[in-house]
Amino acid sequence: MPDVVVVGGGAVGLTAAALLARSGFEVELVEQRGLPPKEPGPDPEIRVLALTPASEAILQACGAWQNLDLSRAGPWTRMQVWGETDHDGIEFLASDINKPQLGHIVENTVLIRALHQALQDGGVTLHCPDSVARIESYTSGVTLNLDSGTQLDARLVVAADGVDSKTRSLAGLEWDYQPYREQAIVAEIETELLGEQTAWQRFTPDGPVALLPLFNRHYSLVWSTTRAEALMELDPEGFEAALTEATGGRLGAMRLCGPRKSFPLGRGCAPHWCTDGVVLAGDAAHVVHPLAGLGQNLGLMDAAVLQEEIDIHSLSMRAMRAYERRRKGPVRATQYLLEGFRLGFGGGWQGFRQAGDLAMELAGRYRAVRRFFIHQADGCLDGPRWLRAGEAFPESRV
Ligand SMILES: Cc1cc2nc3c(=O)[nH]c(=O)nc-3n(C[C@H](O)[C@H](O)[C@H](O)COP(=O)(O)OP(=O)(O)OC[C@H]3O[C@@H](n4cnc5c(N)ncnc54)[C@H](O)[C@@H]3O)c2cc1C
Repeated sequence: MPDVVVVGGGAVGLTAAALLARSGFEVELVEQRGLPPKEPGPDPEIRVLALTPASEAILQACGAWQNLDLSRAGPWTRMQVWGETDHDGIEFLASDINKPQLGHIVENTVLIRALHQALQDGGVTLHCPDSVARIESYTSGVTLNLDSGTQLDARLVVAADGVDSKTRSLAGLEWDYQPYREQAIVAEIETELLGEQTAWQRFTPDGPVALLPLFNRHYSLVWSTTRAEALMELDPEGFEAALTEATGGRLGAMRLCGPRKSFPLGRGCAPHWCTDGVVLAGDAAHVVHPLAGLGQNLGLMDAAVLQEEIDIHSLSMRAMRAYERRRKGPVRATQYLLEGFRLGFGGGWQGFRQAGDLAMELAGRYRAVRRFFIHQADGCLDGPRWLRAGEAFPESRV
């Protein structure tokens, strides 16, 4: 019988599985989709992730960063954030935190492929494609019945099966979720002007528009907007003109390099993250607005803290509760901070706008304020001890 079964082979589930295998547990993973393709296509994927230095350290610890095709992972050293007028911006620099970069922009499948390689190296058994149909909890563990008819018994189940987590509802854990009126449109974009290794984000009254630098000198667009449906219906030329206007012409004219896709957005957090033999991680536990690109980073930190608490308290309820206590605060704080950004910089109530203007002014003037925002986004201060101390990951103590 495996010690742990992870449900969900997104980046959070794969990272949790790889870390727990590295610390000596027998781990199996269930994922409803097939394996990722062996080779990336020539063009960048439409879904990319901005990963922080803390996430890179966690991926290094689980053996995935070493497998990552770095020719497909663009570093970014500068982030330019501005509001409705061109003069009210802030520039965040890697030098604000004395690092060579603020992070890397990585394609989702490139990351998933590197994590699968780490799982193979760690001897994790995969059930893929397969899905969970039923869960039964006992005092000694949990039985999972998969759609294929396979039955798995485990001491612990990590539910990392995303925002609509079936495992969460099968385990009887509640979900507190508020959809936003905004949806996110993603696409690959070529801009007339270039900003080397720079991420751009403009807050507009109907939502933030972000451009993340890709390996091929194009950008990945994440446009969170209440006008998504109308914008998706525009022909390419109409969409490009609307985007050029939304970015205030800061990067010149915009050109679409491929299809657009839209995603619903919302904010959510499970009131309880664990119950007998089942614990939530990643989007199954919490969802944040993508405006600062933090959802995946928070989930990777969940995986690292969960591994640390299991390392201390073994596969016990005590470990699960300690993990929940440690992660809920930083997740809630991030949700409030992002909400403050949305309301403060995006228009709306006058008081929020004034607070947003003040925050912009302080961040523009003082390096300490910019450092606070960058460290808040990185989340490293809430991480496991080895990460905070800048030490190597402590392997195989079981
Ligand atoms: C437009 C957009 C842009 C974003 N940009 C960023 C960014 O730049 N940086 C960042 O940090 N975050 C970003 N995020 C957030 C990030 O994508 C999510 O937080 C992240 O994908 C969550 O990872 P996860 O592994 O928890 O869940 P998911 O990535 O959703 O993975 C869940 C996995 O579980 C599998 N699954 C589901 N149900 C079952 C089942 N019943 N049985 C078995 N398997 C199952 C799914 O197939 C999937 O593989 C963005 C989000 C959006 C919408």
